[in-house]
Amino acid sequence: MAIKTRFAPSPTGFLHVGGARTALYSWLYSQGNEGEFVLRIEDTDIERSTQEAIDAIIEGMEWLGLKWSEGPYYQTKRFDRYKDLIQQLIDEGKAYRCYCKPEELDAMREKQMAAGEKPRYTGVWRDRTDYPESEPFVIRFRTPQEGSVTFTDHIRGTIEVANQELDDLIILRSDGSPTYNFCVVVDDWDMGITHVVRGEDHINNTPRQINILRALNAPEPEYAHVSMILGDDGAKLSKRHGAVSVMQYRDDGYLPQALLNYLVRLGWSHGDQEIFSLAEMKEHFTLDGINKAASAFNTEKLVWLNQHYIKTSPVSEVASHLAWHLNEQKLDISTGPAIEDVIQAQADRVKTLKELVEISRYFYEDFAEFDAKAAKKHLRPVAKEALDVVKTKLEALADWQPETIHAAINETAESLGLGMGKVGMPLRVATTGAGNSPALDITLALIGKTKTVQRIDQALAFIEQRAAS
Ligand code: GLU
Repeated sequence: MAIKTRFAPSPTGFLHVGGARTALYSWLYSQGNEGEFVLRIEDTDIERSTQEAIDAIIEGMEWLGLKWSEGPYYQTKRFDRYKDLIQQLIDEGKAYRCYCKPEELDAMREKQMAAGEKPRYTGVWRDRTDYPESEPFVIRFRTPQEGSVTFTDHIRGTIEVANQELDDLIILRSDGSPTYNFCVVVDDWDMGITHVVRGEDHINNTPRQINILRALNAPEPEYAHVSMILGDDGAKLSKRHGAVSVMQYRDDGYLPQALLNYLVRLGWSHGDQEIFSLAEMKEHFTLDGINKAASAFNTEKLVWLNQHYIKTSPVSEVASHLAWHLNEQKLDISTGPAIEDVIQAQADRVKTLKELVEISRYFYEDFAEFDAKAAKKHLRPVAKEALDVVKTKLEALADWQPETIHAAINETAESLGLGMGKVGMPLRVATTGAGNSPALDITLALIGKTKTVQRIDQALAFIEQRAAS
């Protein structure tokens, strides 16, 4: 049987890392088994669903590279189908009208609570046909009163729930809109979903959904309910623990591959392997390998993975993401060196692409001021001669390469009887604005000759001004 999985978010907010992990697991299971992956937008809650959230979810999925082979489907476009099936259930006596008013339901609830019972709908309208005219009603599903529902969860094992525990849930609201539990069932059936991978917050819905599937004579998919993600304090991961939106991680300078690798290991393992290429994830991933226990989010480990992928990913791949960040910072790539070369020079020095942009600004942007501390230390009158001489030598270079630049700096130091640092540090501050950069010959090669000479002039003017004041 061909595997078909789905990700079925409700578009009420951004794509949360927890949702992204569920999506990843669902996607991996289909990809590793030559299956299909469906994206379905569960927008039946019209009040809370927004187009903005739909866009954000799609953007997040695309950024992560979790490609769907079908969809996105929208539940709001399938209302006719749900209503037809609800009518079918009514005709077959498997669903019925309930005219209970909110006050009646509240009273029912209060009475049960007072008696120490679990609040539930008692089924008052189950067998009534004395429908009041022109009163609003809902449609409830007639849950079997005997027996139980048993299913085998890939993560949690066998789960059995007695039907007596389940009441007759609403499948059509009085405004004519079908409810989540009903739409999910119809969709999973119509879309041929074989494996439902979703958050454990839905585990209580599963027996209800199975009963509906049975009433419709639809096949039952297999289930895997994924545990929660916790913050470092053991509480459910939320905004106060830091970033929880996938797009925030992009903005903060993470590579999608790092986040995917982090999320796949957060709650799933394959021996003690930590680093997984996408191909390895697809090859080794199994639903049965997902942990039952909740997992705690660990930003340090994510940072470590990000650093790893910045250093080791194909440069062209990092470049496309870095280009996005440079653009966000309004830095014009065409005014400086090829970003692939910048990555090669700087990748070892950063943990995030955001940091990479920050330490690479001087390649794409002139600066009006030097870092005060670095300038105080290195752009002093004693450095003037070294800068003058090195400028002349650099200006004379016909071939602007790290080797020729290196030789020019060396010759300057030798001719003036100075240590390399006495030439190198003023030159570094002059050309990059501060005291940190990759090897100077490489840095200057990337900055380019024209800018290097201009910036030395700027530093010389600064020294002169400083001497005068
Ligand atoms: N739409 C549901 C949610 O976002 C998920 C339903 C499901 O996966 O069955 O929580």
